[in-house]
Amino acid sequence: MQRCQFCTAQPLQEVAIARWTTDPDDVERDTVWFCGKHLQRVKKAGNRGFEHKGVHYKIGFW
Ligand SMILES: [Zn+2]
Repeated sequence: MQRCQFCTAQPLQEVAIARWTTDPDDVERDTVWFCGKHLQRVKKAGNRGFEHKGVHYKIGFW
């Protein structure tokens, strides 16, 4: 059973993301599941990335 990457809610959608810790040019590409709430938050954060426990996430592989 899948869960949201950030909480225990049931996920809405699997999305391609890029994530990094300190250097936005040094990204790791992955696909993760987000609930509706967190999908919106990550989308809203845009290129700055949504920070969660010291890791930044943004939608897309670029
Ligand atoms: Zn969530």
